[in-house]
Amino acid sequence: MFLTILSGTFLIAGLAGQGRTEAPELRYDENHSLTWEEAISFYSELDKKYKEATLLEMGMTDAGRPIHLFIISSGGETDPEEIRREGKAIVLINNGIHPGEPEGIDASARFAADMLANKDGMKKYLRNCSVAIIPVYNIGGALTRSPYWRINQNGPDEKGARRNTRFLDLNRDFVKQDSRDARAFAEIYGLLDPDVFLDTHTTNGSDHQFTVTLIATQPEKMHPEMEKFFRGKMLPELYRGMKEEHKNEMVPYVQYTDRGEIKAIIGFEEHAYYSTGYSSLFNSFGFMTETLVYKPYHERVIGTLQFITELVKFTSMNSTEILKLRADANRHTLEADEFVVDWEQDSTRWDEVVYHGYRYEETTTPITGRKSGYYNRDKPYTETIRYYNYFNPSITVKVPEAYIVPFAWEEVIERLKINGVRMMQLKHDTTLMVETYYIDSFEPARRATQGHYFNSNVKMRTVTQEVDYLLGDYIIPVNQRSKKYILTMLEPKSESGFFAWNFFDSFLEGQDWYSVWGFESHLKKLLDEDPALREAFEKARLTDAKVASDPVAQLQWLYQNTPASELEKRTRLYPVGRLMNTGGVPDSSR
Ligand SMILES: [Zn+2]
Repeated sequence: MFLTILSGTFLIAGLAGQGRTEAPELRYDENHSLTWEEAISFYSELDKKYKEATLLEMGMTDAGRPIHLFIISSGGETDPEEIRREGKAIVLINNGIHPGEPEGIDASARFAADMLANKDGMKKYLRNCSVAIIPVYNIGGALTRSPYWRINQNGPDEKGARRNTRFLDLNRDFVKQDSRDARAFAEIYGLLDPDVFLDTHTTNGSDHQFTVTLIATQPEKMHPEMEKFFRGKMLPELYRGMKEEHKNEMVPYVQYTDRGEIKAIIGFEEHAYYSTGYSSLFNSFGFMTETLVYKPYHERVIGTLQFITELVKFTSMNSTEILKLRADANRHTLEADEFVVDWEQDSTRWDEVVYHGYRYEETTTPITGRKSGYYNRDKPYTETIRYYNYFNPSITVKVPEAYIVPFAWEEVIERLKINGVRMMQLKHDTTLMVETYYIDSFEPARRATQGHYFNSNVKMRTVTQEVDYLLGDYIIPVNQRSKKYILTMLEPKSESGFFAWNFFDSFLEGQDWYSVWGFESHLKKLLDEDPALREAFEKARLTDAKVASDPVAQLQWLYQNTPASELEKRTRLYPVGRLMNTGGVPDSSR
């Protein structure tokens, strides 16, 4: 089987010496967060000053400016292949996805400058890993600065907008990729194939004593050995490092069911359209830091910086094990013949965490006089509470050998290619025996989200049948690096998939229909010439009350029992076919 990578990505030369002036100071302790221009000029100066540092321009965003990527490697390497050949792990840190939550923008700049200056001997971590930083991902949002975004957040003075130039929330756009930003990100991700990934945020949920809260990849999504390492070593070590090395205890992201005193923390259900959901499709160890909005800005930056430091340190010290676990996981992914497209929380299993909260009390609000609850900072407490972070599969699919996506579905093909999916095209019009889905029902959302009327609650039937395909239709073998992306996107029941995000909606509108006026005379001729059909029709009129009493139902019965019904088989037939264990893919070109 000959396969070709259809989406090419390349690096262009470093950007040092673009005539920038001196690097701006980091002033997060004065409540100032770097602007996009300041961030780029900061990294550009580091690029000029240090041989280990390179600032690159990558793909275009909706803001008309390219995403930058800053790479720190001990020998200045930027080619991920070369870095991997040297046996080093790669850490990717993404910042400013929500530019109103800019801690990571400042913390990563501080981290890069400190590491390059070998502060506290940090350069030693570069022996076993390279660090790649996206200074600002959502450039459009970062350019739209105002003091009033995230208005009840405790600094910085000015911050960017959550949504990008197309008003998309990029932390819902990782797989459907409506934004150029997300497509550029996918190319960076495919190129780097990071072992460890961090996406930096701020949370405005409940109030408590912690500054840094953490979302980590849903462990069940990992290969069992990787999950064991993640739950048993990596996460405990990161929590320990924050507590003991930095005296800044961290807690899992505080997601709760009812507002009020926090009695338990609910694990984050990680859809693939979120950053760590996306990174889990490629078997990376993924994290989101969520620092608490009510803490002073510089404390949030420092907390994020401490976590970055612990993450890079851990990756460097455990690089051999991390690389081996990922290689095993990638192999396991290729071998797996089942895939979980949806998970549900297990309410019978939990861990315990030490929680430093504030008592929740009733109050009367100062302006509107509303009765409301609030977290009383004068009443701190510490309790051990439950943390429900176990999930069970709720929808599992059997992995086909290949999917067939007709040439017509251009946007789907384009996204698959951007995500590194290799595919072939049929050389001839071909009829194939495939497993197909009929969509019996689904619920489109009544309000748009991200410009889509999200389809959910899909009910469908599976039918194995012959389907005619055309020259140029795409065969997508499943056993390849992007396997989990392929399955996540092409299975209609997947909440992150192309069906959910309306990419296939036009097929739901059905086929040709008949005109009531001309149809009867056509049918009379048919019945006159086909006694068996007439007999069956008469029988239906006697036995089926609905057919007996309703002339339209009689026409419908006839339509479905004459050769015209052959066309009906295309009604609600999901356009993507599943080729099951044929022992070979049909005649196709690359
Ligand atoms: Zn966020």
